[in-house]
This record gives sequence, C-alpha cells and structure tokens, in this order.
Amino acid sequence: MILIEFFLISVIINIIFWYREYSRNRKYPLILLFHQIENNWRPGVGWNYLSQFNRFMKYLKDNNYNVLPLSTLLDNTKRYSRKEIIITFDDGYEDVYKYVYPIMKKYDFPFAIFPIVDYFGKYNDWDFVIGEKTRHLDIEQLIELSNDEFVTIGSHTLNHLDLNRVSKQIMRSEIVNSKEKLEKILGRDVDYISYPFGIYNDTVIKITKDSGYKMALGYYARKNGGCRYTIPRTGIYLIDTMSDFKLKLNNYFIIFGWFEDLKGRTINLLSNLACNNKRKNEIY
Ligand SMILES: [Zn+2]
Repeated sequence: MILIEFFLISVIINIIFWYREYSRNRKYPLILLFHQIENNWRPGVGWNYLSQFNRFMKYLKDNNYNVLPLSTLLDNTKRYSRKEIIITFDDGYEDVYKYVYPIMKKYDFPFAIFPIVDYFGKYNDWDFVIGEKTRHLDIEQLIELSNDEFVTIGSHTLNHLDLNRVSKQIMRSEIVNSKEKLEKILGRDVDYISYPFGIYNDTVIKITKDSGYKMALGYYARKNGGCRYTIPRTGIYLIDTMSDFKLKLNNYFIIFGWFEDLKGRTINLLSNLACNNKRKNEIY
C-alpha cells in the first residue's frame, strides 16, 4: 500500500515538475535533437536507424509540418504554431552527410549540425563505445554542407567535455576556441553553440554570451532554462516508436508526456556517466 502511494505521489510530482518546466519554455517551437543515424545495429540507444529516421521525416512531410531554419529563433517577436519545428543534429557524425543530407534535401527541410570541432575526420574516441567506432564529418564534407543555405553549422565545443566539471579556463577554451576554429574553417561567423550533454551553469552562459554567440541550445529543460542561451530541445532515440515520436511532436499535451521527458533525461544522464570525462587531463 505504501509503495502504491509512493508511486502515485512521485507520478504527481513528476507531472507538476514537467508542466512547470515545459510551460516556462513555450515561447520556443519544438526543437528535435538527433545524434547518429545508422544502417547497422550498434549498442546503446542514443542513435536511430536510417529507416526509422526516414519514417519520422516522412511523417512530418505528410502531415504538413513546417520545418524552420535555426535562425528563426533570433526573432524574439515570433510566436510558433504546433506545426512549426526545428531539427538539429549533435556531434557531427559522417552519417549526417551520407544519410541525413539527401533525405532533408528531398523533403526541403532545413537543419542544423553541431560538430565537435577537434574531431573532424576522426573516430568518436571521446565517447564510450562498445564495438565499432563512428567517424565524424571531415572538413570537406563540413564545408560542402555549410555551403548549402539549408544547413546551419554551430559549435558543440572542442572535445565534448561536461562543462560543469571543468575549470573556468578549460570552459573558456572549449567555448571560445571552438567558435574561432570553426569560423576559420567555414570562413563565416558561427553564431550558435549546443552544450555537450545539454549541461551548462551560470559561468558557461556568461562565457558563451561574452564570446559573441547569439544563441545556445541545451537539452531537457533545466533550472534557469528558457533564455536565449539555454534553449531546450527534445531528443529522439532508437527506442522511440512512431507513437513516441507523435507524442513528442504534440509537445507533451498528453498526461503521460512526462514519461517521455524522464526517458530522455535518463538516456542523457547515462551517456554522460559512460563518457570518459577524465580525458580533460590528457587534453589540457
Ligand atoms: Zn553531444
């Protein structure tokens, strides 16, 4: 009996927490976050099958979703309908060039990529990988993508460290130097950053603002979330069925939407714990 009461109370607390967090952020449209898009099975759930990704994009097209470029968010006065969304890809894997780009072109969907700036053309040694490693975009692929007006490129820092667990000096290097390096490669301003694991704190926000980024993307709604430097996104994973995808598209206006939120937060936390954050001692 006590267990049932405990369960019910935690469900209620979760719903209230989620509703407060979410309603605070309604001024932004739904921003989807993908990572790897792959043809072959691999361990973990932080990726999607190509066929699955294709189905999701087809659903958006068939149901008249309006996919907006990331720069739309710079317009403070705009209000968004539930059919307006933004699509982003973190980590900058090569599959974004090989698989995602042709699909997005076919559907006329703009999208944004946030590559890890010190990993162009390299394998994902920054991550905890069982089995085959995955290659990141090389510089030629990145430049080709950036020359397409449908594609926005932002920074995902230099090394994908948890910015909450590094010194201020490293924090600054990851945020500022990644912007400068990327600008040199692309020959244009880099206005956006997405924080690794969606993690930030007040110092991270301050450095990001001061270094000239116009906007920063996080992940799940967090404390102090919702300003232009902590814009939340919604992760889409291997375990997401078409019903989950629709639930997320409906901006959680369904009572059990909090469960989707919790699921995503758990996956994100586990990927952070698995990641080798001690690398900072080797890098710096
Ligand atoms: Zn990432």
